[in-house]
Formats: sequence, C-alpha cells, structure tokens
Amino acid sequence: MPDARTHDIITVATGVILAPLTYSYASGQMLLAHTDAMTTTLWLVGAHLVSGIMFSPDLDLDSAIDNRWGLFFWIWRPYMWLIPHRHFWSHSLIFAPLLRLAYFYVVVTSGLFIWVWLLGWLGVFVDNFPVLFYYTLRDLLAANPRVTLAVLFGFCTGSAAHTIADWLVTGGRRVVRRVGVRVVRDYSRHDRSIHRH
Ligand SMILES: [Zn+2]
Repeated sequence: MPDARTHDIITVATGVILAPLTYSYASGQMLLAHTDAMTTTLWLVGAHLVSGIMFSPDLDLDSAIDNRWGLFFWIWRPYMWLIPHRHFWSHSLIFAPLLRLAYFYVVVTSGLFIWVWLLGWLGVFVDNFPVLFYYTLRDLLAANPRVTLAVLFGFCTGSAAHTIADWLVTGGRRVVRRVGVRVVRDYSRHDRSIHRH
C-alpha cells in the first residue's frame, strides 16, 4: 500500500482538483452567490483534507497516523483494536468515513461524561456538557444544512481518495504480477510499522 506520505500527497492533490470543481458546481448548478459558493468550497475541501490526513482509513493499523493526534492518540486505540485491518469497516467509500465520524463523536461525548462525573465526584458541579454539546451541534447542523452536506461530502471524498489509491495499488500489483514482472518495491513495512510514543 502507499505509505502515509504518499497518501498525504494524494489527499492534497485531490483537494486541489476538488476546489475549482466544487466552486463551479456551487455557483453554476446550485446558483449560489460568490461568497456562498466560496464558503461551501472551503468547508468541503477542508473536510476532505482533515478526513484524509487526520481521519485516515489507516487509523485501523498501528501506524504513524494516530501520532498526529499527539496527546489524544488514545482516542483511536479502541478503534484500532476493534476494526479489522483494511477491511470494509475502515476502507470503504461511504460507510467507513461516516463510521469514523460517529466513533469520534461517541468517544468525545464519553470523555465529556467522564469529566463531568469526575468533577461531580470532587464536589464541583458543572453544566451537563455532553448534553449541551449534543444540542449545540444539532442546532448548528440544522441551521446550516448546505455546510453540513459539504462537510459530509468532503469527509467521504477525503477517505475515498485514500481507499481508491489502496485499491489501485493492490489491483495494479496483481496485474503486474500476472504478466510476470516481480514487484520490487515493498510496502509491507507500512502495515507493520512500530508505534512510538
Ligand atoms: Zn489504507
């Protein structure tokens, strides 16, 4: 499989291609004014980049990706343990990125619950952050349906650029092998990289 750096380059390159396409669709087909078309484009391309770089499908294996989360790398540990490597669950076009988003939401909310509970245990009573967080997010999404759609779409394309690149490399290697050429470049290290913290 392409390594993390190659995937990053693919993410940025596809993002650069996606920007004018989104803008022309938003202003041409959706008839949005310049500012609205720009906002939609920025959200979509932003989500594409964040999805490919921070929420990469390769979070399912012990690789360099969760190091990018710094102190918060542990968020992805249960994901890594639960999700089979390079499977439908992490490497599919629509289901996998949405599952990562849902997983992230559940972990953040659970973290907030634990925080509120700990503070309560220490005698400090604060507002119910997880519930507040839920309502704020819900209202924000409901008030901005176009941005919500753009973010979800970009999140899926960011993940798709990775998954399709993986498929192409796997398929390409198979074809090359079938015509009798030995593949010299070895990507297997990518799947076995050692975790360092
Ligand atoms: Zn991958």
